[in-house]
Amino acid sequence: REEMRKRYEAAEEDRESLMPTLREVSRQEYLRKREDKKIQELEDELEDAKYLFAGMQLTQRELDELRYKEEVLRLAKEKQRLMNQAAEDGYRMPDSFDAPERYASRYDVAKMRYSEPEGAAARANPHAEQEAWEAEQIKKTHVTRVGAQDGGAAVPQYDYVFEDTMAFVKADMLAGNIEELFETPEQRRKKEAEARAAAAKSEREKIALGRSQLPVYPYREQLLKAVEEHQILIIVAETGAGKTTQVPQYLHEAGYSAAGKIGCTQPRRVAAMSVAARVAYEMGVKLGNEVGYSIRFEDCTSDKTILKYMTDGMLLREFLSEPDLASYSVMMIDEAHERTLHTDVLFGLVKDIARFRPDLKLLISSATLDAEKFSEYFDYAPIFKVPGRRYPVDIYFTKAPEADYIDAAVQAVMRIHVLEPEGDVLVFLTGQEEIEAMEELLRQRMRGKGTQLSEMIICPIYANLPSELQAKIFEPTPPGARKVVLATNIAETSLTIDGIKYVVDPGFAKQNSYNPRTGMESLVVTPVSKASANQRAGRAGRTSAGKCFRLYTAHSYENEMEDNTVPEIQRTNLGNVVLMLKSLGIHDLMNFDFMDPPPAETLLRALEQLYALGSLNDKGELTKLGRRMAEFPLDPMLAKTLLASETFKVSEQIATICAMVSVGSSVFYRPKDKAVYADNAHRNFARGGVGDHMALLAVYDGWAESGFSTQWCFENYIQVRSMKRARDIRDQLVGLMERVEIEMLGDPSDLDAIKKAIASGFFYHTAQLRKDGSYRTVKHPMMVNLHPSCSLNPPRREGQPLIQSLPRWVVYHELVLTSKAFMRTVSEIQPAWLVEIAPHYYDRKE
Ligand code: ADP
Ligand code: MG
Repeated sequence: REEMRKRYEAAEEDRESLMPTLREVSRQEYLRKREDKKIQELEDELEDAKYLFAGMQLTQRELDELRYKEEVLRLAKEKQRLMNQAAEDGYRMPDSFDAPERYASRYDVAKMRYSEPEGAAARANPHAEQEAWEAEQIKKTHVTRVGAQDGGAAVPQYDYVFEDTMAFVKADMLAGNIEELFETPEQRRKKEAEARAAAAKSEREKIALGRSQLPVYPYREQLLKAVEEHQILIIVAETGAGKTTQVPQYLHEAGYSAAGKIGCTQPRRVAAMSVAARVAYEMGVKLGNEVGYSIRFEDCTSDKTILKYMTDGMLLREFLSEPDLASYSVMMIDEAHERTLHTDVLFGLVKDIARFRPDLKLLISSATLDAEKFSEYFDYAPIFKVPGRRYPVDIYFTKAPEADYIDAAVQAVMRIHVLEPEGDVLVFLTGQEEIEAMEELLRQRMRGKGTQLSEMIICPIYANLPSELQAKIFEPTPPGARKVVLATNIAETSLTIDGIKYVVDPGFAKQNSYNPRTGMESLVVTPVSKASANQRAGRAGRTSAGKCFRLYTAHSYENEMEDNTVPEIQRTNLGNVVLMLKSLGIHDLMNFDFMDPPPAETLLRALEQLYALGSLNDKGELTKLGRRMAEFPLDPMLAKTLLASETFKVSEQIATICAMVSVGSSVFYRPKDKAVYADNAHRNFARGGVGDHMALLAVYDGWAESGFSTQWCFENYIQVRSMKRARDIRDQLVGLMERVEIEMLGDPSDLDAIKKAIASGFFYHTAQLRKDGSYRTVKHPMMVNLHPSCSLNPPRREGQPLIQSLPRWVVYHELVLTSKAFMRTVSEIQPAWLVEIAPHYYDRKE
């Protein structure tokens, strides 16, 4: 055996030093054929022996003989497998990837350790440049030798397997019975069943084992003790430590769930759904029973639920029906460092109820280290810190700024896929559209490369993705393949995906931005903060050392990026939250206990807007209308639109439109290769220049008429899952409308009534046509344009839009800032309506 091992090793070394030449390839082919023949002969011989010896008592010699043949067959098969693999690998050509060297050289020479301040590390290592160059050279060698990698090019002294095995096999021989050599089908089935049973049993054991290996586990008892001793506790632990999935389970196991539910908030709905599913799996229960989740328009809980994951916005809504959170014994405000608007408001509310509910345990958990601020805010609550495990992450910057970061991200992923050893990739993008675009580009690049490159499994993850597809990102990557996760900010801290070794970070995120002076609110693609960038990089070093490719320069990191993300409360419209707080009976908002108060101007603007919408009276008190509006989990403008629909007797249509705009911009499907067909199909819905709101209504009604048919969606280039979601939302809105006693009426032909109802909520969002075809917003003048997707865009003649066919006055749903300020979802209105609808806001002179 020792001899054998040595020869194998020698062969291994030889193999390393060989490159597959053409001669080699044909030799391999020859050897493989010979191998096939030999295997066939051996198999026949054994088959005969089995037949001959059946039921006989064998001599030791005969048994030895059989064992020997068995062993030789096994080795021959193994050899064959290796050779086949070598043949496959051997044809792989290094230059099949378009010039990776060219791309590789764009990365900055500054190669830095993640755990150190970047700039300092570069300065401290004068050899960084040389090292980086060497690293590049090594990588290049690696490319040209792809074929010589595992499996190898050739197995030169292959014949020894047959000539010399005797000694090895003989030394290993044992006396025994023929049954041991030949397994009957029953025996095999029995063995397999046993293996399955063992695996199933160990499934639970595996879960337990996995749980006990998480960084929080060693601190379980200490943590429980701390919770027992203190009412409020700040928990700080690295992402992936087990805060979200483990801590609530510990508390449940320690008996806290006997006194009430254990709640845990998440800033994002995908995270709430996904962790709830994970915890249900770990506890071996059905999701929605003992473990459930609650997100806007979707409640997956039951009377049995004891662990409840929910979005922070949903907990805020729960305050409306249960202001003391009486049904909870523990509330965990998770991902506190994200500082979303709703989390910030929750801080104030839970801090308040903790004072009169001494039995309520409050946990504030965060992934970043600056927990002192949380502690201070919660009257110096103790901080429980779980030391993190983090492996070094090498950070690369680009040398020059990238013009198109999607394109750069595609290149970076391809580069990793070709050059880097195995390990999954995580790419941070800003939203669904980008993710879909990048997925398509990657698929194009991989097309037809199946034999040259290993498999690439592309997994998108964003809020609107159906949950069965979301689960895909957690599936273990099969050996030899590489998973590429295309994610929004969600993967920064709220979701942990095991196996990520490479992070590609274009450095952008979509953020709310609000100008209280003009009341303009928009979603803007913004550079992320340094803190975010470092969190993103950290994702690469969770289970082993990793690499992060930043698609921006070290200079922009140092000089252009903010240290920390501005809390959302300071850059968003507060209309919704103010309405909610007012309905909770909190009147003095100026003195509400905010961790970081919003700008006074923003608060005043929100009050003013609610007053203009009619939900507050001139004393700042909630009106009856305001109370009804607060029932809807919608922006006040949409809520007002719904309530106004009653007056205009179009509540059926408005319910549909509100549901359709709530699913976002993912209704229309426009594949690049069929854009013309898709555009034609979509144009049908907006026939007669009725505007985007009406088009959405027509889409929904068309779908409903088809009996909610999937086929109909395909034919009309409509995304069926967006439609299903719209139907769900609509059902719930109708339920809520019944609760506040809105009569469901509808005259689909009364377009003006429908548009008036929309304008009743959205009179803030109106604009007037200018001579050049752009628009000017009415109250606070600002230049805006119709979004390219807008159905009101006029036909073009000789490349020029026919401006005279543009509507003079429009109402829009939202502003999107990209290259310009674009109005998305737009309809024509009459200016005279504004005075009728919002007399507080528009007087006749304007
Ligand atoms: P934290 O909240 O501290 O960031 P989590 O509790 O979310 O950490 O995750 C703990 C671990 O549980 C992760 O490292 C990951 O291995 C595992 N995990 C979490 N969610 C899933 C999931 N949906 N599928 C598989 N594993 C998961
Ligand atoms: Mg978490």
